Amino acid sequence: MEATGNQNHTTNDAGIPAPSDEYSLTAGADGPILLSDHYLIQKMAQFNRERVPERVVHAKGGGAFGSFEVFEDISEYTKAKVFQKGAKTDVLLRFSTVAGEAGSPDTVRDPRGFAIKFYTSEGNYDLVGNNTPIFFIRDPQKFQDFIHSQKRRADTHTRDSNMQWDFWTLSPESAHQVTFLMSDRGTPRTWRHQNGYGSHTFMWINASGEKFWVKYHFKTDQGIENFTDAQAKAMVSEDPDFHLRDLAESISRREFPSWTLNMQIMPFAQAQDYRFNPFDLTKVWPHADYPLIPIGRLTLDRNPENYFAQIEQAAFEPSNLVPGIDTSPDKMLMGRLFSYPDAHRYRIGTNYLQLPVNRPKSQVNSYNRDGSMRFENPNDPVYAPNSFGGPRANSELYGEAAGSTVTGELVRAAYSKHRDDDEFVQPGELYRSVLAESEKENLASNIANHINSGVQSDMLPRVMEYWTKVDPDLAARVSKSVQVK
Ligand code: NDP
Repeated sequence: MEATGNQNHTTNDAGIPAPSDEYSLTAGADGPILLSDHYLIQKMAQFNRERVPERVVHAKGGGAFGSFEVFEDISEYTKAKVFQKGAKTDVLLRFSTVAGEAGSPDTVRDPRGFAIKFYTSEGNYDLVGNNTPIFFIRDPQKFQDFIHSQKRRADTHTRDSNMQWDFWTLSPESAHQVTFLMSDRGTPRTWRHQNGYGSHTFMWINASGEKFWVKYHFKTDQGIENFTDAQAKAMVSEDPDFHLRDLAESISRREFPSWTLNMQIMPFAQAQDYRFNPFDLTKVWPHADYPLIPIGRLTLDRNPENYFAQIEQAAFEPSNLVPGIDTSPDKMLMGRLFSYPDAHRYRIGTNYLQLPVNRPKSQVNSYNRDGSMRFENPNDPVYAPNSFGGPRANSELYGEAAGSTVTGELVRAAYSKHRDDDEFVQPGELYRSVLAESEKENLASNIANHINSGVQSDMLPRVMEYWTKVDPDLAARVSKSVQVK
């Protein structure tokens, strides 16, 4: 911010000239303050209401604007206009940690949110992903409990690694994501030096109505860079806003970070017999089975001018899907379709989609109306169908996953198992085949540090059994550094 000779006069929020920036209205210089000082009362009342509830997860974050450009013809897979060759679409990308509160430090060990809003010509498309291709659980029934275990205790209001490991070891499907989290990628050096993944499996539909299953991989063009555990911890005290600052400063320097979008594409019919359940959020699709297809580039080149208006009030929702893109039987995705818009209605109000950062750049012809803080409302006719020239739904434009069939008895059950489904196969593969020797050492010592931060002795055998199932060599390395009191 530079000093300028701004000559504007202060007003209150009704535009009325403010009586003073310094003095309250009193009966005599030393006398009591009068209730008729509307200006003072408005300032105090507004101040008390400055905070909207912080996000219950992903509270601390930052973001920037930019664009996404497609360089490959993939019209055989999707008719979505945002993914047609040559299309350039404005985007907002918000990064975040998951478990910490709004003021928490950036560099702690945690997955990072990687949430993109594409302002497409067919309405907003939101891809609300993370910097990991997988997640801790696969059924939304467990999400609230999972998050409770990672946040604060009821009694001391402190975080407790014993309860974190309790949940993880009782939920073996978490092993893949916990391996990722404890690896060097659990502490990215900056938001710019990490990948982003759509994580879920989505459906793409082409102009002929053919359907495909897809996964999104945004690979950083800056290269992957991570902090060690010690560096990340040191940065917590040196600069708790390190990631926020790094992104803003790099864009200010015109070093615009970018990511290349690669897709994995599975023909619709292959899902049934694929060796892993392709909708299970705790699994990846090995690249050898479904190679990455580079299709476009996302670049961030504009910092927000106003954090609260453009980032804190940004509302991403996995339910914002445009024609040519649809959901899949991923149960976590199903849960998120409901929970995100529900959170926004609670957090920032029922008409959050009219806020400038959330409003689509395409035309809105909705019959939804009224409600708190609505400032654009449909005129008559206010219902459909009508005979007075109001908008009509054109279901061909949307083209939902027509032709899909769903059958089955009502049950509460695990996903059906595919040939190679097992909780520990993929994390074991990550350890044995992907990590370099130094990364294996770091993984083992990061796990041990975390265990040493609060796991109790009666929990330890379960924790060690969990890592033995991932890989016995990893468990042996971990046990060397474990010092449970
Ligand atoms: P590949 O050898 O074909 O791919 C392994 C992938 O792992 C790399 O392409 C890279 O993906 C990612 N990777 C590289 N170094 C690290 C690291 N230090 N920490 C975490 N991930 C890393 O093998 P598969 O596709 O068969 O996958 C093997 C294992 O790799 C999986 O079980 C999974 O744990 C992990 N992995 C797989 C991904 C996938 O979508 N198939 C994606 C990421 C990890 P990237 O460029 O996306 O970072």
